[in-house]
Parts: sequence; C-alpha cells; structure tokens
Amino acid sequence: MVTRAPERSKRAPEAECMHRKAEKNRRLPSVDAVLHHEACKKAVEEFGHTATVAQIRKVLDTVRAQQQHQNLVHIDLDEIAARVKGGLTERAKASLQRVFNLTGTVLHTNLGRALLPESAIEAISKSMRHPANLEYDIDAGKRGERDDHVRALITELTGAEDAIVVNNNAAAVVLVLNALALNKDVLVSRGELIEIGGSFRMPDIMAQAGARLIEVGTTNRTHLRDYQSAITHDTALVMKVHTSNYMIKGFTKEVRARELSILAKERDIPLVDDLGSGTLVNLEAFGLARERTVRDAIEDGADLVTFSGDKLLGGPQAGFIVGRRDLVQLCAKNPFKRAMRLDKMRLAALEATLKLYRDPNRLTETLPTLQMLARPVDDLIATGQKIKPTLQDAVGGNYDVELCEPQSQIGSGALPLEAIASCGLAIKPKRKKVSGRALDQLAAAFRILPIPVVGRITDNAFVLDLRTLDDEGEFIAQLRHFCVPENDGAARC
Ligand SMILES: *Cc1c(COP(=O)(O)O)cnc(C)c1O
Repeated sequence: MVTRAPERSKRAPEAECMHRKAEKNRRLPSVDAVLHHEACKKAVEEFGHTATVAQIRKVLDTVRAQQQHQNLVHIDLDEIAARVKGGLTERAKASLQRVFNLTGTVLHTNLGRALLPESAIEAISKSMRHPANLEYDIDAGKRGERDDHVRALITELTGAEDAIVVNNNAAAVVLVLNALALNKDVLVSRGELIEIGGSFRMPDIMAQAGARLIEVGTTNRTHLRDYQSAITHDTALVMKVHTSNYMIKGFTKEVRARELSILAKERDIPLVDDLGSGTLVNLEAFGLARERTVRDAIEDGADLVTFSGDKLLGGPQAGFIVGRRDLVQLCAKNPFKRAMRLDKMRLAALEATLKLYRDPNRLTETLPTLQMLARPVDDLIATGQKIKPTLQDAVGGNYDVELCEPQSQIGSGALPLEAIASCGLAIKPKRKKVSGRALDQLAAAFRILPIPVVGRITDNAFVLDLRTLDDEGEFIAQLRHFCVPENDGAARC
C-alpha cells in the first residue's frame, strides 16, 4: 500500500500534527526487517542472499528518493518486499530472448539471421561440454590448426584452392584489405560503394583497414576502360562488391567479374570478389532467382572470394576467405587473423552446416534457411487457416483477422529485389479510420507475449508473415496470454 502526503504548500499550521504523523510514517524498515519478510525469504532461496540484500538496498534507496521528491509518505513492508521480489525476477530474465520472427524477412539481421540446422546445434553443445581437438592434430599428437576442421570441406564445395574463416564477412573484407593492400590502392566501381546497415560502409572499411580507395567509373556506369586507366604501380587489388541491398536500374553498365579477371590477370593484380551472401548451391532448384554461387565466382576468375556464414549459407555467424593459396596464406599470417578467428562453438557449427551441402537434394529438410525459403505457399495457407480462429479469439471483436498474401524477402542483402509469394495473417482494427498509433499499440501487445512476436505494419494492418513461423504449436498456445490494447493504451487481458 502506498500513500501520498498532501502538498507542502497547502499545509495549514493546524495540520502540523498530521505532518508529524506522516514524518513517523516515512521511517523505512531496516534491511534486516525486509529480509525476514516471507516474500524475501523465498527470494533468497531463488536468487541467493547477496543478490536479495543488494536488491533490498536498491528498493529502499528508491523509496527514500521518492519520499523526498514525490511526496510519497507511507509504503508498507509487504509493498517493499513485493518490489524486491519483482525486481529480482525481472533481472533474472535473459536479455537475449527467443522471439517469433513473423516479419517476412527470412534472414533478419536484427533477429539473429539464420536458424541453425539440428546437426550444428548438437555439434555446438558437444564442443562446449567437452575438451576438443580445436588446435590439435590427433594423428600426429601435436599442435594443429583450427581452420583445418573446415578447410577441405570449403575447398570441396567451392572449387577454391584454399580457405580460412573469420568472425564475419565484414572481418573477412578488412583482413583481405589489410593483408594485401596496406598503404596501397584498391580499385572499386562507384556503383559498388555499398553501405550494409550501420557502420559497414565500403569507403570507411577501406580507410580503417589502411587501404586507399580508388573510385572507378560513375554510379550508374563503369566500363572496363575505367579500370584500365586507373591501374598504376600502387594498385594492390581490384575489388568487386556485390551490391547486395540495392540495384541500379536504367542506363547502367557494370563490368562483369569474368571480364574484370582477364584485365586483372594481364596486369598481375589480384581480383577480390566480395559476394556478401555467398550461396553454395543454385537457388533455382529451390524456386528462387539465380544468384552467383561461390563456385561461379571462383570459375569467373576471382583470386579471392569473401562471403558470410549466416546469410544464405544458413550457418553460424562467420566470414570466409577462399581462393588462391598464396593470397589466402597471406591473410592467414596477418596479425588481425588472430583477433578475428572463430571460436570452437562456431567452428563446430560451421563444419556441421557445411557437411549438409554434400547432400544438396535434402537441404530443404536439413537446413532451416532453405527450408523456410522454399516453403510452398499452399502449406503456409493451411497454417494460416489453422491459426486464424485462435488468433481471432485472442484479439477479440474489435479486430478482423484475415488471410493475406504478403511478399517475403530473403533479407541480409541477399537477392534484394527478389520477393517471395507468401501467406500471412492481417489483423485490422474494425474502426473506419485506423490511426498509426492503434496499430503501434497492437504491435506492442504482440511483443509483450511470453515469446515476443515481431510482425510488420503495412496497408493499415498488422501483418504476421507465416513463412518464417518456426513453431506453430507454441505460437497458438501462447495466444491465450494476449492482452487486447485499449484505445488509451492500457492493456486488457
Ligand atoms: C552482408 C555483407 C557484408 C558483411 O557481412 P557480415 O557477415 O554481415 O559481416 C559484406 N559485404 C557484402 C556485399 C554483404 O552483403
């Protein structure tokens, strides 16, 4: 129970007695007294003595501050103990939580990109629970190299001569530039100076890695002769960057990798192809548009190819540098490699993921990313019809729930303009004029479910795209906890 004092300015002299009483009320219980409250005894069992005492002090400090600044007079022991327990429970909740990604973006960078295959998850647990031969050659009984666990697999799957792996593709690009172009020129087309969200901008990366960016051609048109005339004694690399999150259309000209590689070979300058997503299989087999594979890039004559582990490849966060052995080894020996190396968990996951590619015909069963991308719309419609009645019940009579046909995206800069027909559930407020705020409140109500649901607001509706639903049963089961937002923003459960 909480009581507030009358405002000081209004206190008449005759109310002095009341004021004294209030002062007495302000006295807070001791830490010990709170600790002996039933709720706090339970908290000690659950969260430990140290954490509980610390939380009691924190709550008492807060109440004291409230008394001084907000006229709060009395707060009883039950209320203090409840606040302690509540605070401890809140703090014990994991910050990194599972969510439902129903945004329609399969590889959503903010929601953790690829879901790992079961075999990779098992490999990770094993690598964590027991010692492993991470840098140990079991046959020879001496030191080994961590990249050896995946090198042969990667070269087999890509046709490259050699390969190393680092923290992510951004790191792979930095490492290549630093190892091969320190204080030298790197040629990049002006049409390929990408920014991939946040702080990954090709010109900035070049500068930080110690390489000099030489821009070639114009934004929409770059010709072979532009590269030819830009090459000098200081040119260390020619770089091609996949414009993974945009497309330049109209009056355009790009020099293809194969053509560029002929020039690079003539001038004896390595060609680096940053593929970004880096798929290992022809995506047409899964009903998607064709995307150059890593093998294509190698066959087109790139000396090095860089790509990500957690985009279309469907594995853990990682970056690959594959290609000519002498160049890969220069990267391997660069001091930055040590700072960017993979840990045993991700190496274990990467090996398990790559192994699945030896049986490409079963990838839609074994690899969640491809499985989700290839889900037939009819299956999604069936799922939608199954969920719809429970969802309608949960959101109540003020909303209409309808099946809709959103367009899913691959995400993470893979095939940026490729939209995949999908099925979703659109939730629309019944009122004629729907404010943006009402939809925001609806979206927020889905985010406070036990497993937060992230959807998308579009066309005056809150849309849940079912392509990326990873557990229908759990999704339906938790809808009973849904609280319908009121017009004033308060929740009604
Ligand atoms: C995504 C991307 C990167 C960065 O890869 P991360 O694995 O996210 O670090 C670099 N280059 C291109 C072309 C990309 O698409």
